[in-house]
Amino acid sequence: MAQKLSSVWLNELTWEDVAEYLKHEDIIILPIGSTEQHGPAGPLGLDTYVAISLAEDVARSAGVLCTPPVWFGDSSHHLGFPGTISLRLETVRALVKDIASSLAKHGFRNILIINGHKSANLPALLSATKELREYEMPEVFFAVIDPMKISRGIAAQTKEAKEHHCGELEISEVWHKYPHLIKADKLTREAPDLHRLFSPFFLDDLMGKGAGDTIDIPWTSQEQREFAPTGSLSDSSRASPQKGQRYHDYMVARIVEFIEWRRQHRGPITRQP
Ligand SMILES: [Zn+2]
Repeated sequence: MAQKLSSVWLNELTWEDVAEYLKHEDIIILPIGSTEQHGPAGPLGLDTYVAISLAEDVARSAGVLCTPPVWFGDSSHHLGFPGTISLRLETVRALVKDIASSLAKHGFRNILIINGHKSANLPALLSATKELREYEMPEVFFAVIDPMKISRGIAAQTKEAKEHHCGELEISEVWHKYPHLIKADKLTREAPDLHRLFSPFFLDDLMGKGAGDTIDIPWTSQEQREFAPTGSLSDSSRASPQKGQRYHDYMVARIVEFIEWRRQHRGPITRQP
């Protein structure tokens, strides 16, 4: 059985602690988010806080380590608002590849990425990990975990409004974990009509029940500043720490379940015991 480490965060341990951990475990979580405007009520780091809080609670429960969080992602569409810092898709890919290369060198063989920035980071994360597996490190198992997909069993029942950027659920989760970071008096009912702006084929609820038939349409930061002047794309007026806790705890439990599955099914994907 593992020795009790003083922290789940790699950056708070010594190299000797990590060497000890690697004697019995090779799983590590890499949290990634963004630094981008989250409307008048949410902090710029909201997506990263989502990733950090999931990573930390999963790591504690499952007894695994986390890398330091990546605070930046692909946020170019939010650059119309002060404070947003965006990486190009190529930079996100390069960052993930370099972090994975270092981890693999030390013997980590299971890298679980928790992405708090939802669909905007997914193209970079999925293409980088797919390439790493095919061309550079087929021996490393990668998983990309995203609240949009791991909360399907609870999201639609928990929220009351359509969830897009600055939605009820992501605000609720951060409100639950970091109460001082949400300006409750600035939660807003105002949300642009995304179907009017982008056609009825636009996915205006990222966490809805059935997505229906959709078409992806990119937009610019200038367009966004005009169609969503507060920065919010969702009605967050019914967000609450209680909803956040329910949503958060559900996702933590599901991710821990996944880690347990992986522990029972280590090794190549083609050869299961
Ligand atoms: Zn967000």
